[in-house]
Amino acid sequence: MTILSAANIKSKALDLGFNLVGITRAAPSPTLAAYKRWINQGMHANMGYMARPDRVIRREDLGAIVPDAQTLIMVGLDYGQEIVPESVLNHPTRGRIAMYAWGLDYHDVMQPQLEIFSAWLQKEASQQVNQRVYVDTGAILERSHAQQAGMGFIGKNTMLIHPRRGSNFFLGEIITPLAVDIYDEPHQATMCGTCTRCLNACPTDAFPEPRVLDARRCISYHTIENKGWIDRDLRPRFGNWVYGCDVCQDVCPFQRFSPKFKQAPPDDLSTIAPRLEELLRLTEADFKERYAQSPIVRIKRRRLVRNACIAGGNSGDDTFVPILRNLLQDSEPLVRGHAAWALYQLDASAATSTLSHHMDNEDDSEAHQEIKALLGH
Ligand code: SF4
Ligand code: SF4
Repeated sequence: MTILSAANIKSKALDLGFNLVGITRAAPSPTLAAYKRWINQGMHANMGYMARPDRVIRREDLGAIVPDAQTLIMVGLDYGQEIVPESVLNHPTRGRIAMYAWGLDYHDVMQPQLEIFSAWLQKEASQQVNQRVYVDTGAILERSHAQQAGMGFIGKNTMLIHPRRGSNFFLGEIITPLAVDIYDEPHQATMCGTCTRCLNACPTDAFPEPRVLDARRCISYHTIENKGWIDRDLRPRFGNWVYGCDVCQDVCPFQRFSPKFKQAPPDDLSTIAPRLEELLRLTEADFKERYAQSPIVRIKRRRLVRNACIAGGNSGDDTFVPILRNLLQDSEPLVRGHAAWALYQLDASAATSTLSHHMDNEDDSEAHQEIKALLGH
């Protein structure tokens, strides 16, 4: 089989617009044991796909994805932006969105480029091969393979951190049976030293130990992946995050090296820091129109409005009360229940009579249960 030039592959990756590239052998990840412990302890929460036996097998053996897999070509694409001041992002009347979601859906941006890359590799090798392209979609321990490909170390916040670029980049990869002439050396395992900033800054104490993230406590997991009811005890800690959370990345000292795209703030902040009032009034049609090009579309309107209710409850701003009262009539029980919680947060005594009255008409058992719990029945 042809041996490809690693230098040519890297040069092509940069030509295609990727900012980082590393090449490693398609060997098992050194963090496999830690991943299995994490699953066994239930820290993947309701992300059942993380624990599916067929997916576990793939993580153990890349050959289960691509027979005769030889090589893993990892790429990174920067997403850092510095266009809106913190005072806007953190304003309690706005809902904050994690930076990775400010732009177009990264799957739509990276996947086509990786497909072009994949076709180019086959042309270079003068042969058709069975290889796979993934953008956050494959059952592989992406960050750990990227560390093996020399692209950075895994921080105590579990992110892949490049010592001179921070962690604001997406990862993608090609698993191929093609071989290359030179493989990258793994990056040193850690450069965190005695720093514990990310562990201390997490609003929900989601790190039981360094490099272990308990998704059951993570704002990012709850606002994006959790399709149902959010733990009442955690909600007050969410602040104004309505989609993801950047806290454990933002506090990292390596982030000062992160390349940041700078430009004037856009007029429309709907994918950055939308006004909570707008989110709380979102209809299905508005939602689809606003977020069609964004990864936010994946969580659907009901989860975004649920998250906005929590942020509204945390805002301390009682001008949200009338809109939240209207949401007690929303067609989605999840929204009704979280709106009830927000009303109770903003003014418990005023909410008590509203909710007592509403409870009699609430026909969804979970929403009913939520209101009952709020009222202390
Ligand atoms: Fe904690 Fe936010 Fe990091 Fe999740 S994303 S671990 S909530 S700081
Ligand atoms: Fe490591 Fe400190 Fe960054 Fe956390 S904040 S990942 S401990 S360097």
